[in-house]
Amino acid sequence: MKCPFCAHDDTQVKDSRPSDDGKTIRRRRECPSCGRRFTTFERFQVQQVMVVKRDGRKELFDRDKLIASLLTALRKRPVTQQQIGLLATEIEQRFSDAGRSEVPTRDVGDAVLAGLKTLDFIGYLRYASVYHDFAGPEDVVKLLGDK
Ligand SMILES: [Zn+2]
Repeated sequence: MKCPFCAHDDTQVKDSRPSDDGKTIRRRRECPSCGRRFTTFERFQVQQVMVVKRDGRKELFDRDKLIASLLTALRKRPVTQQQIGLLATEIEQRFSDAGRSEVPTRDVGDAVLAGLKTLDFIGYLRYASVYHDFAGPEDVVKLLGDK
């Protein structure tokens, strides 16, 4: 990255950390030519992914909607906003990194379930009960038996 002060072509990264919401990376850079320091904020470059619904309709992958559903599943659970943000980014990146421009709703749901399963088991069960349209406890038992 070019130095904004002297336009030197190559600057060094001194420190790199994710922001609180996990959406951006904050980098401290130093120019080896003029010695000045500056900060950059880099957003994950995410290719736009279309989600294909069961009825065939398509809509743009909506990160805010994903976070809203994670928040619902993880209500009152010991999980931080940052963990939720990181999980959302992971799911979003999984599809864009694979170079997929369209994903069925089902794949998004499966990715959320896989992420929740490692993050918080109660949240996972809550999400699964809505996602699989559980009728009663026997469905939970069946789900656990499948694993
Ligand atoms: Zn410089």
